[in-house]
Amino acid sequence: MVRLAHLPSLGQTEAFQSFLSRLAAVNGATSLADFRRHFALKSHKSFACEETVSEISRLTGISRSILDDHQLLNVSGHGELWHSKLQWSNLHTMSARYCPLCVQGDYVSGSDPRDARPWGRGGWYGLNNFVCIEHSVELFTSPIQYSSTSKWDFTRHLRENQRELDTATWNATRNIPQPYDLYFDGRLKGKEQEVPLLDKLPYHIAYRLCELAGNLKLTSPADASLADLHEARREGFNMLANPHELLQCLDPLHEHHLARAKMSILYRVYGPFQKYLTQLADMPGARPLIDLVREHAMNALPIGPNDDFIGGGGIRKWHTMSTAQREYGIDRRTIREMLAERGVTNAAPATGRNILIEATHVEEVVIDFMSRSHIQYVRKTFGVRESTARRLVSAGLVEPPNGRRPEINTKISRKTMHGTLRKVISGLPESDESDVVAEVEGRRSRRAGRRHKTE
Ligand SMILES: [Zn+2]
Repeated sequence: MVRLAHLPSLGQTEAFQSFLSRLAAVNGATSLADFRRHFALKSHKSFACEETVSEISRLTGISRSILDDHQLLNVSGHGELWHSKLQWSNLHTMSARYCPLCVQGDYVSGSDPRDARPWGRGGWYGLNNFVCIEHSVELFTSPIQYSSTSKWDFTRHLRENQRELDTATWNATRNIPQPYDLYFDGRLKGKEQEVPLLDKLPYHIAYRLCELAGNLKLTSPADASLADLHEARREGFNMLANPHELLQCLDPLHEHHLARAKMSILYRVYGPFQKYLTQLADMPGARPLIDLVREHAMNALPIGPNDDFIGGGGIRKWHTMSTAQREYGIDRRTIREMLAERGVTNAAPATGRNILIEATHVEEVVIDFMSRSHIQYVRKTFGVRESTARRLVSAGLVEPPNGRRPEINTKISRKTMHGTLRKVISGLPESDESDVVAEVEGRRSRRAGRRHKTE
């Protein structure tokens, strides 16, 4: 049963709270607080708790699902899951915030009583929204803070502050909407969007990314004003909509990273932008952006898939002496010498630790080094010549214990050695048998002979 005699027409992107204050006004209440008292509506900080919505649905005959669609977090675009703690902090609720030209326009249109005509667009609450798309002016934020009894009462605020509205209208600052403004306005209105790196992300995450990307270029101060942040977001949006611009902007940070004095395995190449991407590593919608940025970094810097760079993964392209040492457990001087032998780099000692070497070159010398040390170990263990040890290894009879990258100091067990010897004796082709076995046996007896003599 509908109990209220008058209903204002619900605006397309009107916040539930704005509708409530108009509902109070058209039904003769002097304020939203009075209206609430009269109908014993629960007071709640969000003013949109389930009980209130149910009660308003009962009083107005408007379905709960329609009222839910006008919940502030939904209508301002902040309603998607993830980072719930960010939601309210991204909204302005301390005072009235509005486009003075929209409000003036509302006064002269519609069939509701004049006082109750202006309706609060949900987007006005979103702190990332800075301009009115319709009028190309900056939103006005009232310096008159809501009190506990006037909170959310936009209708009453306008009624009591006509002068403020007139001044705001007179002084409205022109600000032509840019692609950023149009994009986020479009998202609020459910328009089809075409920015692949942002479309799949929740609204508030998408614009936070714009802000952080923009700051790669503009570097807003710590106490940045809303206007500063808005500039950064506009800039960042252009970069995210044209990814080559973003990547260009990341390039200078590579040099900075390579030249840094402190070597750390914590890679924070791209500052807060990278930190935020890392927080989003498990979010499927953020994947295309993360992959793009990680790939770009790995193409230029000595980062490996296990370095946990924005969640890790990818293919290493570059090493420095220190990353090679860390990855393979081989002293960097040895690696440098081996690379110099191959003419990949010069053997200058200890300087230039941040010189980049293609990972494939490093891998080649490491494999070579490993197999060489493996052959030496086989040679000593079996007491054979190096050429014989090579043949045993290349015939696959003695395999490095850990495949392609044996640990240098890993010993072959006695059991393995005996097994190998048996294989050598029983399985080698006729022509090789005499050679290898004679060699092995010969060495052994010569050694035994020497031992005998010295005893
Ligand atoms: Zn407007």
